[in-house]
Amino acid sequence: MKRNGETAFQRCIIPSCGWTGGIREVVNKCPRCGELVDVAYEWEKMPLPARLADFDARAADFRNPLNFSGVWRFKPLLDFAPDADVVTIGEGRTLLRPSVSAAEFAGMRPGNLFLQYEGLNPSGSFKDNGMTAAFTHARMVGARIAACASTGNTSSSLAAYAAASGMMKAVVFVGAGRIAGGKLYQGLEYGARTVQIRGRFDTAMRRVMEVTALKGIYLVNSVNPFRLEGQKTIMYRVLEGLNWDVPDWIVCPGGNLGNCSSFGKAFMELRDLGMVGRVPRLAVVNAEGARTLDIVYNERKVRWNGGRPDAEGIAAYFKKMDAEGIEAHTIASAIEINRPVNLKKALRALEAMNGTVLSVSDQEILDAKAAIGRSGIGCEPASAASVAGLRRLVERGVVSGSDRVVCILTGHLLKSPAGCIQYHLGGKGGPGKELAEYGIARNPLANPTVEVDDDLDAILKAMDDV
Ligand SMILES: *Cc1c(COP(=O)(O)O)cnc(C)c1O
Ligand SMILES: [Zn+2]
Repeated sequence: MKRNGETAFQRCIIPSCGWTGGIREVVNKCPRCGELVDVAYEWEKMPLPARLADFDARAADFRNPLNFSGVWRFKPLLDFAPDADVVTIGEGRTLLRPSVSAAEFAGMRPGNLFLQYEGLNPSGSFKDNGMTAAFTHARMVGARIAACASTGNTSSSLAAYAAASGMMKAVVFVGAGRIAGGKLYQGLEYGARTVQIRGRFDTAMRRVMEVTALKGIYLVNSVNPFRLEGQKTIMYRVLEGLNWDVPDWIVCPGGNLGNCSSFGKAFMELRDLGMVGRVPRLAVVNAEGARTLDIVYNERKVRWNGGRPDAEGIAAYFKKMDAEGIEAHTIASAIEINRPVNLKKALRALEAMNGTVLSVSDQEILDAKAAIGRSGIGCEPASAASVAGLRRLVERGVVSGSDRVVCILTGHLLKSPAGCIQYHLGGKGGPGKELAEYGIARNPLANPTVEVDDDLDAILKAMDDV
């Protein structure tokens, strides 16, 4: 048996290309055809547990940092690195919880909707699952500077790992003024060089690709295939939370589509290894103001097609976007993306998990977010797209109220309170006008403050109906 990365390699996602490369190469795209690459494994040479339930013993061994981490305690399933190179700051200790209030909102039977709360990560979003893996690879290759373009959470995570590990400098590119306050604040506090580029995420993305290639800087955007290896473990923890029972549906928001792609990879591998009897269905939810996947999948009918996706169909839509000046715009800033970099991997995941794609409005997102909050779980708007999407799928009869469904809550409530608090503060008069630009005119789940004179009777009256 070999271990510690000797059985891992990199491979182009397009089977007809067939490029493979060593695990210590830094490529981010296929040197032969320019498409995305995967981390791949010679599974038959690797020591794997017989059953997924065997991972329970590692979860109990929390004094070992590799087992404390909710990513690395599944290391046999992402064994691309020597143990000594693993960079961990305690990511992935997250929780699967049923939510009655969200179930009621979505029209599900109470007890059948579970929320996988990735806001519990050290930097407050699921991105830490991937960043720990990217930093581990960066250490393997001796990188000194890491960079990303970000709508906010990738930069928060990168900045935290760079500072905590003390081994790398962090540079983050963001669209000027297009990042939530909490996320910007994290990068600044953790000491990352923050470059606000006058433009949007997609502009920052183009530039970071250019600059990292020019200067030999390690890129940690989700084109980095190691990020997705870490993010696979979200699915392992979902299964763990369900006592290793496979649910009927996984529902997640779609931005750059790294997360849904990693979920597809997780289940393709578990299926091929015979570790799950079946694969759940996948629903990827766009915001209406940033619905590239929805259009490409549902209107242009582009499919993975066994590794021969219709590249021209995708390019034609991108061209139309440019020609018509279509710009992503949603209150869910984490998914405000025009050109998802993992689009083709997402198509592959949708095929492997018999998936579906849909969009929801910002109004539905904030309503869903408030419903989730009533279970004591605070998430940011992008995360709530999952529950909003689920409600539509139940309405359409695609998901049955008695299915077992897991919605992935990708980030923490406190990331972007600024505009969202106006949903509550507006009270009966409707949401604050700050939300009008997103078409949010109603706030059925508002919980406004009550202001009274400094008078005991008035104070008691304000609490009458509590
Ligand atoms: C990054 C992010 C997303 C989008 O994930 P992708 O992998 O880019 O599709 C959704 N929600 C939050 C909170 C995020 O930070
Ligand atoms: Zn290739």
